[in-house]
Amino acid sequence: MNFPQRLIEGYSAFAAGRLQREQDRYNELARAGQSPEVMVIGCCDSRVSPEVIFDARPGELFVVRNVANIIPPYSPDGQAHGVSAALEFGVGALRIKHIVVLGHAHCGGVKAYAQDSQPLSPGDFIGKWMQLMTPAAERVGPRGAQDQSEYLTKLEQANVSNSLANLMTFPMLAKLIEKGKVATHGAYFGVASGDLFVLDKTTGEFRRVTAA
Ligand SMILES: [Zn+2]
Repeated sequence: MNFPQRLIEGYSAFAAGRLQREQDRYNELARAGQSPEVMVIGCCDSRVSPEVIFDARPGELFVVRNVANIIPPYSPDGQAHGVSAALEFGVGALRIKHIVVLGHAHCGGVKAYAQDSQPLSPGDFIGKWMQLMTPAAERVGPRGAQDQSEYLTKLEQANVSNSLANLMTFPMLAKLIEKGKVATHGAYFGVASGDLFVLDKTTGEFRRVTAA
């Protein structure tokens, strides 16, 4: 199969528009290297692109995306860990100042976990990956009489908080956070409304951001 035509068309539009406007910036980023201040850990979901939501320019966001924006806990077990490697590089080499975990509404990964349904694909990986959400589900408690969307929102938001808690299990990161050199933040994007919510760590609630 050919390279997707949609991507060729998209690149053409980029080359004629944004690239032309930002060529100098790209040249400078190539010369000096990247120095983003913000790292975003988001979901793979095609509707939740951090660069689009935050209107980011090249070089501004260091982004890791995976199913359900999960940060697995620190586990130096000799295996390969993609998120941990990105954190190590982002914080250790790039001196990232802010780490944002970006969750979202209508998250397929969270829904699959909540419904205890078959994983999204019957493959070898996703079921085990989603088990990382278990502490978040335990914190939310049983669904009980809540309607499903209310319960899923709680679970999606608890999953963001759980990823933030897991950040603190990385010794180097915990030290930098305690010293105030790195700050962590939770955010939640409402896919239908387009609203952005930011976690208030003192109350544990997500508050809607009013656009400036
Ligand atoms: Zn998702």
